[in-house]
Formats: sequence, structure tokens, C-alpha cells
Amino acid sequence: MNLTGLTIDAARAAISQGKTSALALAEAFYAKIDSDDPKIGAYLILSKERGLEKASEIDRLAKEDDKLPPLAGVPVAIKDVMVTKGVRTTAGSKILGNYVPPYDCTAVVRLEAAGAVVLGKLNCDEFAMGSSNENSAFKPVHNPRDLSRVPGGSSGGSAAAIAADMAVAALGSDTGGSIRQPASFCGLVGLKPTYGRVSRYGLIAFASSLDHIGPLTKTVKDAAIVLRTIAGRDPMDSTSAELPVPDYVAELDKPVKGLKIGVAKEYFGEGLEAETRSAIETAIQKFAAMGCEIVNVSLPHTKYAIPAYYLVATAEASSNLARFDGVRYGLRVKGARSLSDMYRRTRDEGFGAEVKRRIMLGTYALSAGYCDAYYLKAQRVRTLLTGDFEDAFKKVDLIVGPTCPTPAFKLGEKVDDPLAMYLADIYTVTANLAGIPGISIPVGKSKDNLPIGMQIFGKHFDESTILRAAHAYEKAA
Ligand code: GLN
Repeated sequence: MNLTGLTIDAARAAISQGKTSALALAEAFYAKIDSDDPKIGAYLILSKERGLEKASEIDRLAKEDDKLPPLAGVPVAIKDVMVTKGVRTTAGSKILGNYVPPYDCTAVVRLEAAGAVVLGKLNCDEFAMGSSNENSAFKPVHNPRDLSRVPGGSSGGSAAAIAADMAVAALGSDTGGSIRQPASFCGLVGLKPTYGRVSRYGLIAFASSLDHIGPLTKTVKDAAIVLRTIAGRDPMDSTSAELPVPDYVAELDKPVKGLKIGVAKEYFGEGLEAETRSAIETAIQKFAAMGCEIVNVSLPHTKYAIPAYYLVATAEASSNLARFDGVRYGLRVKGARSLSDMYRRTRDEGFGAEVKRRIMLGTYALSAGYCDAYYLKAQRVRTLLTGDFEDAFKKVDLIVGPTCPTPAFKLGEKVDDPLAMYLADIYTVTANLAGIPGISIPVGKSKDNLPIGMQIFGKHFDESTILRAAHAYEKAA
């Protein structure tokens, strides 16, 4: 049995049937990480003590009880923007290089309560700002499908770890596409839930009105299992919704015949590479062949999504990152001449170039005299974009399109051109601005053998229909 290639159910079954132990499984993953991660760079920190202790606890439980929890002994890994008690958490930044949090992120607590074994913390762009993982202060991540290419970002370590069999499932965060785009670049399933579906307690904030936590997995069913585990009201996050959590797994096999699937012309315009376009068109044909009705819809304000996103996100980031002042968390430079000198030098040494760029952009967009022209205007555009989706969802159940305009690009290709990097987020930022759920699933390969991802959007809190359609596609393909 190839232990590191298992899905969630297969891993759990192997443990409950005594074919392996949780400890042996965790050790197999650590051995895989030791041998393969040096050339990939997915992990920043291994939480061996915590992981192996949890695995031993599951093994004791397996002896006493034949009713194991749903993720019993399943090795998972966490993007390093979610805090873990006693385990260093850096957000990919030097400013938090030595930060050991005193508490746990709710999503991590819920995974562990369901029996999961946390192997470690995953590399990412600094404070989740980026699309290629090249903004990590520690090291870049290489795409396991082609080591000369980026894995996507900002959850690049999460995607690479799963694609390289170095964890069964991972948590990522998505503020403008950071779960879906790396999933697409690495040939995985990545789900951004509805805003409010999963608690953000313990997620280091980038842009609070856009931030989401969600799974990266090998299969749609695994994504459904993880979502079911982490979703639901949390008194520690006032924006988490007071709504019951459906059994996403039980609903996967409901028929898709008759579903109305929208296709928006704005997602097939300039900049979309021909191979990606044709892979998406072929996938849409598959939905038609499964009895879905394909309907043309329009999302007319899509062209304003990138500027609106990069104003709202940077404005919120400039405010959220004000707390890193050398007093309360992480790095403090030595030898400062005064308090303001200490603030300035700590932030100068602690933050990388992209983070500084965004703090400056966001501070400018919020400043007196410019706030109306930039930040408030962007908020109005956000309302229009949300309205586009509301109108479209009066006619259809789901909307499909490409996740990204191109497959994974080369390391170094876009680092010196922030605007080109920003423009590649064109199809993903809209779901964050509107708060709707979206998934990316693999639908094909380019001629260079690089994965191509299709995105499926749904109505607010209708992850069930998205997962059901994605599962049907996965089975048919
Ligand atoms: N690539 C986008 C950005 O750089 C999205 C990042 C994210 O979702 N965390 O802001």
C-alpha cells in the first residue's frame, strides 16, 4: 500500500482495519517530507511532537473503540497563516519569524477534534499577499508537477504538499484566489467557502472582509469531508454564520441532471490562453452531456474587479498590519534611538517589499482627500459586482469558467512586474468581493503537461450544489 497516496477515507479505513497505524502513517509522511521537500519547499515548520502524540492517541482509541472519528489518524497540514498553540507561526514573514502563538485557530481545533494529525505548517506568500509563493520571506515553493514553475499562491505550500503526497489534505486561505489558483496550478481540488461559513478565528488577518479558510485536497469528496468538519458558527468569530451545516458528503451523489449552469462571456475574454479556453469548453460539454442545462449569463462589472479588489484588500491590510509594531508580537530591532525609530526600523526590517507596497497603497487609498475617490469608490464597485452575481443566480444554479487565464508560470517570470501578477487574479477575486463560494477542480492538461483548473461558483451558502456538480464531473472524467 502506498501510504502517502491515500485519500481521507482510505487513510482512515487503513487505520480502522488495522492495515496500518496512525503512528506508522504519520511517520511515513514525515519520511516522505524529509526525502522530497528539500526540492519543493512546501513546509516551513514541522509539528512532530504534536503530530505524533495525536497519532498515538488515535492508535489507543482504535484499540478500545471501533467507532473512530471521521478524520481519525489522517495526516493534514496547515498554511502558516493559521495560529497553532506552541507551534511557531510566521505568516511567511520575518516580522513573525519567532512568533509562538498562545492559542489555536478554530479550523485547526476542529480538524484535530475530528481525529486529524497535524504534520506541520506550510509555506506561503508573506501575509498571504501574492499569487506565486515567491513573496515568502523564507524560500520559494516549486510546483511538484514541474519544478521550474510556481505552485501558485498564496497557499503555494498547501497545494505543493498535497500534489507531492506530503499530506492528505491541507488548509489554505483565500482572500482573492489563494486556495483556488494554487489548486488549479497543481491539479487539485480547492474550495473557498461562503464568507461566514468557516470561522476566521486564529487566521492572521490580511483583508478581513475578504479572508476565508478552506481545504485543498486530491478529491472532491475529501474537500466535502474537510468542509463539513471545519464549517459552522464559532462564538469567537462574530462574522461566522448562525446557520446549520449540511452533510456535504451525503449530498455528493444526488443527481445533477437538470441543474442550470451559467457561462459568463466576461470570463472568456482577452488574456485567456487558448488551451485553457478549450479545456473549459470541453468540460462544459461534459456537463451538458450529464443533462445540465447550459445558460449564457452576464457579469458586466467584471472588468472593474481587479482595481476594486486591490483597493479594498490593501486598505484593509494597511489597517490590519498596523499591529506589527515591535511591541506586541514577533520581531523588535535592537539599538533603536526612540520609540518611533523602533517602530520604523522594525517594520522596515520585518516586512518584505510586496507587503510594504500594499501598506503604502492601502494607506494612500484611505487617507483624507483620497478616501472617496479610491476606497469608497471601490466599495461601490464591490456592491455592483455582488449585484451581477445576484442577477445571474436568478437564472442559474451554478456559474462555471476558468480559474486562471493560464497554467502555472515559471519561477521568476512575473516577480518584477506586480501589475502582471495582479492581473492574473482576474477570475478569482470576484467571488471574494461578493462573498460567494467557489471551487477549482482539475479538468485537463496543457501541451506542456501542466494542470488546468475549472472554477464553479454557487449561491451564498450553497456549497452543496457546487460540490455535487464537481463530484459528478470528477466521476464522469
Ligand atoms: N493573489 C491575490 C493577492 O495577491 C490573492 C491573495 C490571497 O487570496 N490571499 O492579493
